[in-house]
Amino acid sequence: MSIRFQIEAASGAGRVGKLITPHGTVETPVFMPVGTLGSVKGVPQDLLEELGVQILLGNTYHLYLRPGVDVVRRMGGLHGFMSWNRSILTDSGGFQVFSLSELRKVTEEGVTFRSHLDGSSHFFSPESAMEAEIGLGADIIMAFDECTEFPAERERARASMEMTLRWAERSKKYFEAHKHEVPWGGRRSSVIGRRQDGAWESVTRDPLAATFDGGHREQRSDAGSADDRRPTTDDQVATQSLFGIVQGGMDMELRKESAQQTVEIGFPGYAIGGLSVGEPREVTREVVEATLEHLPADCPRYLMGVGTPEEIAQYATMGVDMMDCVLPTRAARHGLLFTSEGKISIKQARYATDDGPLDPACSCRVCGRYSRAYLRHLYAANEMLAQVLNTVHNLSFYLDTMRRVRHSIRLGEGTRFLSGVSSQPKP
Ligand SMILES: [Zn+2]
Repeated sequence: MSIRFQIEAASGAGRVGKLITPHGTVETPVFMPVGTLGSVKGVPQDLLEELGVQILLGNTYHLYLRPGVDVVRRMGGLHGFMSWNRSILTDSGGFQVFSLSELRKVTEEGVTFRSHLDGSSHFFSPESAMEAEIGLGADIIMAFDECTEFPAERERARASMEMTLRWAERSKKYFEAHKHEVPWGGRRSSVIGRRQDGAWESVTRDPLAATFDGGHREQRSDAGSADDRRPTTDDQVATQSLFGIVQGGMDMELRKESAQQTVEIGFPGYAIGGLSVGEPREVTREVVEATLEHLPADCPRYLMGVGTPEEIAQYATMGVDMMDCVLPTRAARHGLLFTSEGKISIKQARYATDDGPLDPACSCRVCGRYSRAYLRHLYAANEMLAQVLNTVHNLSFYLDTMRRVRHSIRLGEGTRFLSGVSSQPKP
């Protein structure tokens, strides 16, 4: 057993639940911050814990190139290496190979590509991508897929979707044969971690028992007590979970076929991939809606790479359980901040003497302490602290948005919530 998924309440198509992984419990629907290189840029792990992050994402392509899978594996996997004892998900590297690397060559066997760092040549196949993801040791890993470009002719989208299906079977086959090789697997989990005071320690624990440190997260949690989060499974050996990915471009028929056949291969969770690749937002929504209806209701559904605060709220009410996006962290580094009053560009001169908080409705440590004038000054002066504080606020805003979505689904008012979220620019 690797993950368990429990749905606790539903409103319309939206549902609230718990995803129990070998490294803790994740309240869903969840937004997963992106920690590309084993780091959510600018934010230390203890602060992520304080913000209530229960799962974050690592990128296999980036970690494979630097520092290399073997280094991470020898440090206890990503959990031990980055000192993060909560849940982690890694993508398969497929999306980055397609979006970042030059001179890639795709064959049935896999993809040959050049590193965006030094131009060196590499090869990813479903098997080698699984080997890398097992070595990195995330709780949830993704099958190797081909992200179909946009726009794509129907025949091209079909061929790509069908290859992703064959790659999904190969991914699963390799994973099933090698999943015991995960750095923390095959035994009662023993990971090397750091204590709060920074000292090294070897932590041996029940692999399916959550490691919660209470404190801030308790107050911010909107679902149940700490006891609820302690898994009650009898399983003694924890392993990773492999999710399948639905492709099919923007063609609803291909999406349906991809969903049905991916479900036939059989995974404990399913992702909708190949979106946010340049298509209009309305098309994204239609594809998500058309795909969701073909995914099993009792499995977690993960929408990859979206979106704005309104979009993640909307997708959650449509029945998506997991989402990730670089938007809150990347926008923060460019001085773009999401607030309850709309999107703010903190660099604007109008904030130079504004002594109010960034977002009066936000309870994050940034809004509680600093003025817009100070944040604007930090950004204008190119101070490192600007990126840190901006990222902390934006992540906090996204996580709060999902807390409110979960709360409103529990109250049975899932879609009514949507009117309350806005990331439109301030008038
Ligand atoms: Zn804030």
